[in-house]
Amino acid sequence: MASLIKILPEHLANKIAAGEVVQRPASVIKELLENALDAHATSITVILKDAGKSLIQVVDDGDGMSPEDAVLAFARHSTSKIASYEDLENIRTFGFRGEALASVAAVSQVELKTRREETPVGTKVVVHGGTVLDSSEDTSPRGTTIMVKNLFYNTPARRNFLKSDTTEFHHCLEAVHRIALAYPEIGMTFFSDTEKIFSLRSSTLQKRLADLFGEKAAGSAFYFEEQHPTVTLHGFLGKPDFSRKTRAEQYIFLNRRFILNRSISHAVLKGYEHLLEKGSFPFFTLFLTLDPRKVDVNVHPSKMEVKFEDESLMYRTVYHSVQHALSAHDLLPVMEVKGPGSQSDRAAFTSAFPDKGSVNRIMNWRELLGGGAESGHASLGSGQIQPERGGTGSDVKGGRDGGFGATGAVQQGGDLPGVQIPAPVLMQLHAKYILIPIENGVMLVDQHAAHERVLYERTVKCFGRHSAPVQQLLFPIVQEMPAGDVALLQEMLPLMEDLGFSFKIFGKTTVILDGVPADIRPGNEKTILRDILDLYKEDEHNVGLEPREKLAKSYSCRAAVKAGESLNQTEMQALLDQLFATEVPYVCPHGRPVSIKISVTELDKRFGRTS
Ligand code: ADP
Ligand code: MG
Repeated sequence: MASLIKILPEHLANKIAAGEVVQRPASVIKELLENALDAHATSITVILKDAGKSLIQVVDDGDGMSPEDAVLAFARHSTSKIASYEDLENIRTFGFRGEALASVAAVSQVELKTRREETPVGTKVVVHGGTVLDSSEDTSPRGTTIMVKNLFYNTPARRNFLKSDTTEFHHCLEAVHRIALAYPEIGMTFFSDTEKIFSLRSSTLQKRLADLFGEKAAGSAFYFEEQHPTVTLHGFLGKPDFSRKTRAEQYIFLNRRFILNRSISHAVLKGYEHLLEKGSFPFFTLFLTLDPRKVDVNVHPSKMEVKFEDESLMYRTVYHSVQHALSAHDLLPVMEVKGPGSQSDRAAFTSAFPDKGSVNRIMNWRELLGGGAESGHASLGSGQIQPERGGTGSDVKGGRDGGFGATGAVQQGGDLPGVQIPAPVLMQLHAKYILIPIENGVMLVDQHAAHERVLYERTVKCFGRHSAPVQQLLFPIVQEMPAGDVALLQEMLPLMEDLGFSFKIFGKTTVILDGVPADIRPGNEKTILRDILDLYKEDEHNVGLEPREKLAKSYSCRAAVKAGESLNQTEMQALLDQLFATEVPYVCPHGRPVSIKISVTELDKRFGRTS
């Protein structure tokens, strides 16, 4: 009996293998761009027709190929990039498998034109479905032009599997973005169906970010760099006010190769903890540089997935670096932990992260005041000023004294048991900011932003519970409104009731308000509905935001104490206590900072002091 096992003819094997490398036009673009980079191109043009389904053309000004290589390039496992196993351990080029061109050519109609510097005439090679049809001399400029036509023309099942042009185009654009970001020094031009999508000159990473994502996005991000023994990190981190509802604008590169790595993404996000709402994602571009031997890029043919030698070290390093960078920009204001060895910045950083468990804790503002008796700074704030102002002291006690005592932060160690130093005098600046003397400087809190944060978190929790206290109005307020606004109120009625509003709608344009949430300060009842509606509508362009989130934002903004309102000690302390009990105390719901910290070191610098 004849053998049942047959060796697959090469063109069939190629077709099958192509499935791993070539899933869609975007994967072809990725491979062709990487080849251009490996060939030292300085300028690359990408041209698409029908989202790459009919044509993907990549033109580079790189090294080019000799006539022999131009044909050989299409054979499986033909590569000029590695020759031995040792090379495989030390990969510095994108390609190394010698699979891409063979795979692409197996499922399309390819025309390649190429010329090396030293040869006057170039070469043209035509390959259809993996079969070389023609190889001839050609007049081509130095470099390589490759045209991939009718992708999957001979594998109809795969062709049918492609998504709409819009979707495929989006993937293509993403593939080009990734390379454009990783190689800002390379000029990149991108056409789609004769429309010029962009034409970018060689530039810096910052400029490239602006070119690709707009000035606003780039301007909202700051540069950072961190060196660690095994890895160097650099890139741009978006400030919280530019957060997104999707993870789309997050880029991680490893040795300038785009990677998908959930653990690293998570580590970055974790670095932003307490700065972003749940469901918000930062905009960032992160470059990791490490010894190629410490990472296995060989785990997946598309090479977007990598394995690190020490995954958990990598996670911690990224997390701490991002957190450190954000706190260095005073976006995460409370980072220094008192203790031996916290002299230098660097030491403060490490001592702030003694172990994994304590990292996530948000400090209470009272803990920032310092360690009590042994701290000179703290006694200035609490011990010296306070006793002279007995009146204020009683004010403090009337407030949230119990909570204050419980933290023990400014308790005087050696004194009578149970006797506490009163909290420091808080100062309200310009009826806008609260000034708090803290152990290593001063902290300023924006009273409106702080209250907004408090109300926002409380509001979000109210929805669906009907538990908010209602303040019944003695005289219901009758309001005439445009029909559109009334319809909107009608839609939001259940959510508004959860917040503590009580109103009835009459006809198309009349609303009678007879109860408001307890947060609404007297005098504001008449305008509150109008104000909330206006803000709510303003947020309309904010697509992707749920109605309840939008309502929570507009409500907390309108109900919060405003700049210009004066607060007494008790109110300021209560506000700070509530603020630091929230989940995201450092940013308001709109992403603006709630507090800033000025360190004594910073003050010394400004005053030109050396000690
Ligand atoms: P790999 O990149 O893994 O080596 P490819 O199939 O992508 O495999 O390419 C095969 C070979 O063809 C490369 O090793 C390189 O020598 C040559 N080649 C491909 N594209 C280009 C290009 N744009 N410029 C110069 N040489 C190229
Ligand atoms: Mg390649």
